[in-house]
Amino acid sequence: MPDSASSRRLQHQIALVTGGSSGIGSGVAEALAAEGATVFVNYSHSPEGAAEVVKKIEAAGGKAYAVHADVSKEEEVLAMFKEIREKCGTLHILVNNSGIQDDSPFLDMSLEKWQNVINVNLTGQFLCAREAAREFVRRGPQPEISKATGKIICMSSVHEVIPWAGHVNYATSKGGIMQLMKSMAQELAPQRIRVNSIGPGAIATPINASARDTPEEEKSLLTLIPYGRIGEPADIGKVAVWLASDESDYVTGTTLFADGGMTLYPGFADNG
Ligand code: NAD
Repeated sequence: MPDSASSRRLQHQIALVTGGSSGIGSGVAEALAAEGATVFVNYSHSPEGAAEVVKKIEAAGGKAYAVHADVSKEEEVLAMFKEIREKCGTLHILVNNSGIQDDSPFLDMSLEKWQNVINVNLTGQFLCAREAAREFVRRGPQPEISKATGKIICMSSVHEVIPWAGHVNYATSKGGIMQLMKSMAQELAPQRIRVNSIGPGAIATPINASARDTPEEEKSLLTLIPYGRIGEPADIGKVAVWLASDESDYVTGTTLFADGGMTLYPGFADNG
């Protein structure tokens, strides 16, 4: 958990982190809770993972609930938002984090693989963002709690700008998230709803465990990271806290890359 000297920048706020039961999502959930937010830890297939994150947050003095939904299914997303409203009355922060990879060479990519990834990574973010925005508008401003009426943070990737052979479904979903985020930010700004993305580089989580199996693979991954280390979920948690807090009140429609310089074209560092 972040340091105990936390300034509780998210006190009295209710947050939902989709896919909060592992990896980056759990790091974000813990960081938001350490700043005073009550966090709903969404899971689709791992109630144990979500329960563990809730336990960790509670042990650190925070407040959290596990909440189930497959974010690609509209009826499950609607039920999840209903549950949040019934339990806590409203929502202030959505972290749209759920995502999957289902890789294949392009020539062999089945429609099923394409759709699986688009359904979770892109449609899932649309469905949750729409329900969050509807709730923010229904509830209206609460300036005593936060300057913005609501905050939406989309978990994108460096692959919203870096093409990725063998992963066209994933890269397309992240490119789509960029325009989803920017278009929502433009449309919702008059209601004082801020929408931003985080673009992580390589963060050590289950999604990319196979790319770090051997020391050789890890070394090869590090050649893509000028800063010389693989990121941790807590690196992303800190960015999410800032984007959710009033410190970033004038920031909307932006992707904040947290990638150790991966988007800096490291291949050109030695004169190209
Ligand atoms: P992860 O596999 O630990 O997390 C993904 C989460 O999404 C899991 O909790 C999983 O249960 C959940 N999820 C999957 N399908 C779902 C569904 N249908 N409904 C609800 N939840 C579902 O991996 P991670 O690295 O923590 O990934 C989190 C996000 O960060 C993803 O959007 C991923 O694309 C993004 N990201 C990760 C990295 C990285 O290097 N790890 C880099 C860039 C972006």
